[in-house]
Amino acid sequence: MSPTSPGSFLNHSCDPNCGMQDQLSVVARRSIRAGEVVTIDYAMCMTSPILDLACECGEPICRGRITGDDWKKRALQERYKGLFVGYIERRIAERGTTLRVRRPVRGRIRRDR
Ligand SMILES: [Zn+2]
Repeated sequence: MSPTSPGSFLNHSCDPNCGMQDQLSVVARRSIRAGEVVTIDYAMCMTSPILDLACECGEPICRGRITGDDWKKRALQERYKGLFVGYIERRIAERGTTLRVRRPVRGRIRRDR
């Protein structure tokens, strides 16, 4: 582990005590006791298609598996709203707008006379 890599000091948990405030800053989701491991959910900051790990975090809500697609899960998006890194927050917002219903275009029907 490189001491210069901020991620080296964070572990994954499916019920983490922290989230991402921005690309590099971690913010607490709840009080953290002295000596407690600082955790984030990798869904908050990882979208790699090759990420596929078994999880044994031990939390009652453990997903059992961590993948690069976990950020797409609606339940995680709701639980971690505002705690994803910026590019994932933007991707979530963009996906929300892709479901818009297009209005029919008027005046484009060609009539043969
Ligand atoms: Zn877990």
